[in-house]
Amino acid sequence: MDLNGIKLTWLGHATFRIETPGGKTIIIDPWIMGNTITPETEKKVKKVAILLCTQGHGDHIGDAVEICRQHNPVVVGIPELCGWLGKKGVKQLAEMNKGGTQTVGDIKVTMVHADHSCGIQDGDQMVYGGEACGYVVEFSNGVKIYHAGDTNVFGDMAIIRELYSPEIVMLPIGNHYTMGPREAAYACNLLKPKTVIPMHFGTFPVLVGRPGELLKLAPRVQVLEMKPGVTVAS
Ligand code: MN
Repeated sequence: MDLNGIKLTWLGHATFRIETPGGKTIIIDPWIMGNTITPETEKKVKKVAILLCTQGHGDHIGDAVEICRQHNPVVVGIPELCGWLGKKGVKQLAEMNKGGTQTVGDIKVTMVHADHSCGIQDGDQMVYGGEACGYVVEFSNGVKIYHAGDTNVFGDMAIIRELYSPEIVMLPIGNHYTMGPREAAYACNLLKPKTVIPMHFGTFPVLVGRPGELLKLAPRVQVLEMKPGVTVAS
């Protein structure tokens, strides 16, 4: 994997922290304090300039409001989700919708489709949160990554490859609430990345998919099994 100045840390589940070549900290899907597989040493967010939110479920935005209260980052999300976050006191909202690209700090972020649901649990109410999405992020050094969010495989991943050609993709493999290794291997055929980073597995007992299964099913792609809290920088 050629990160060329980017530092990538998986915090467990769908949560990643990325330090850009310009030194900005991005968090994708801020579920940290309540995330049982995030190491204790990572539970306190020290700094964050940009939050990318793929959807409204608690295991994706569970700590968004608290992190925004502490650090006031720019938050990227679909309008309905941003609207809810705004009502909770989040100040810097950079809403967008699928197919759009915007520059935030030193990254270009494109919102893409995900095949999933997006309700927001707000007390005893389930609030409409728009639709679930994924993100393609282009860094100033030219590296492009695709975080698929929670999703099943879908045929238009071929369009994501043709339009953006991300060399690194983060795909859910846990099964039950998202695709499992079989579908993720099919997604690799559509996306043709150099490296796939499995996510959204092992957190709960029903998330039974494992990177080893994907490794067997997708032999032509590098399957990078990250450990929560360990940073990869090359
Ligand atoms: Mn999830």
